[in-house]
Amino acid sequence: MLRCDPSAVDGRRVMPISKSRQSPFDTRNERGADRLLQIEAVYDKVPVGLCYLNRNGTFVTINDQLSRMLGVASERAVGQQVEDIVPDHAHLLRDSLKAALAGAPIPDQEIRRAEETFMVSAASVTNDLGETTGISVAYTNISNVKRIAHKLQETEQRTTYALESAGQWIWDLNIATMRVWRSPQYRILLGLDPNGADSESVAWDIVHPDDKARAIQAFEDAVSGRTPYFEAVYRVPRGNGGHAWILSRGKIVEYGPDGAPLRLLATSVDISMQKQIEEQLSTTVQLRLELEQKLLEANRKLKNQSERDHLTNLPNRRKFNHLLKREFVRATENADSLAILMIDIDHFKAYNDFYGHLAGDKCLVQVGRALNKVIKQSGGSIARFGGEEFAALLSGVTAEQASTTAMQMLGTVTAMQLEHSGSPTGVISVSIGMAVFGDENREAITGPDDVLNCADSALYQSKRNGRGRLSVWGDFAK
Ligand code: GH3
Ligand code: MG
Ligand code: MG
Repeated sequence: MLRCDPSAVDGRRVMPISKSRQSPFDTRNERGADRLLQIEAVYDKVPVGLCYLNRNGTFVTINDQLSRMLGVASERAVGQQVEDIVPDHAHLLRDSLKAALAGAPIPDQEIRRAEETFMVSAASVTNDLGETTGISVAYTNISNVKRIAHKLQETEQRTTYALESAGQWIWDLNIATMRVWRSPQYRILLGLDPNGADSESVAWDIVHPDDKARAIQAFEDAVSGRTPYFEAVYRVPRGNGGHAWILSRGKIVEYGPDGAPLRLLATSVDISMQKQIEEQLSTTVQLRLELEQKLLEANRKLKNQSERDHLTNLPNRRKFNHLLKREFVRATENADSLAILMIDIDHFKAYNDFYGHLAGDKCLVQVGRALNKVIKQSGGSIARFGGEEFAALLSGVTAEQASTTAMQMLGTVTAMQLEHSGSPTGVISVSIGMAVFGDENREAITGPDDVLNCADSALYQSKRNGRGRLSVWGDFAK
């Protein structure tokens, strides 16, 4: 450190640092000289630039650190006016001097020199008489602090932007006090009064009563370590009086020395829109399901109608053909038997002519019902095949069993004693032709139509032989 004789500069002896009786600058004894050397060494080594300016603005001392900071050798600075050494900010030092001499507070100043920022702090120095002799100035390089502060500000801006654009806010729960701090986005995003008092409030007090237990459970799970994260969906009030559905996710970020959780840091996002879409979707899905059910039902009805005869409500020819095909395949594959009965009302044209068409319809329904009753008891099926003709099917029966059923049909219809003046017997009767597909004719019969044709031939035979009877295909051919 270089210093000039203060008295040569301002005409007084200056005691810039200590007012003690044995001044460190007092070199009159050996101890004082040692101490001075020590102080000078410290003065040069401190990581702060220091100088002392007398009341005229002349450098009296300047330490090595400041010499380096200002890029000026101390030999050149000492004894020189501030304007000669630091012209860029000499006016600031002059202002500080002025303030010191006026006994006013000296504000800290910030200066920039060659990419570096310095904080310049000055303090008034007084002599034994309490008079201001100059100022002691400290230059602290705050470039790093400034850079860090700038980076912090950038990070905060980015976080704020990210949170706002993602529609999220942060909250920080102090687990010991159960008080929550929320970032300002909370109020902005929910349309709450930005100056509202509850930016720090008791945990869960904003949660909808119906959702509170769920949120608390999720919190307790996270605190106890049962779940690695806190996650809950719940409702909170909006500024407009309604509620917003929010999704909160968080993590314990701080633990005490005993391992107890201290802080939960979480983010929340408004998911009302998703919830609404979810509800709409589930309503749509529900409606679709109902519609599908109705469609299936309509389809079932339609199919039923397309396979039913409207007059007798018996299966129609179409249904019978499906059944016949299926049973023929089954009988072929299982080497089983299949009997077909073709049933035709005798002299029905005459019935219509005599009693009218409506009476004919009624008669058809009665005969159909009687025939159905018999076939059901035998475990078979019947259909209205067309006009006044019915077809019946019996699976896995012998010719004898099928004949028995046919004979029952003949008997039942006759026993109804439906008056038919146009018939020689005076009552309604039917003729039946029967064909049995089985081991005896498996080779000769190639498909279901063959069985039908055979039964039809047998029916024709019954008609020819006087009606009101049963003919079995094969019997008359022998
Ligand atoms: P057969 O003993 O030889 O069978 O003499 P049939 O008069 O019964 O035979 P035909 O084939 O000559 O006449 C069948 C009649 O059945 C003709 C038609 O008027 C009548 N018929 C067919 N379908 C219906 C119907 O749905 N309702 C009514 N009322 N009559 C029908
Ligand atoms: Mg006929
Ligand atoms: Mg007939």
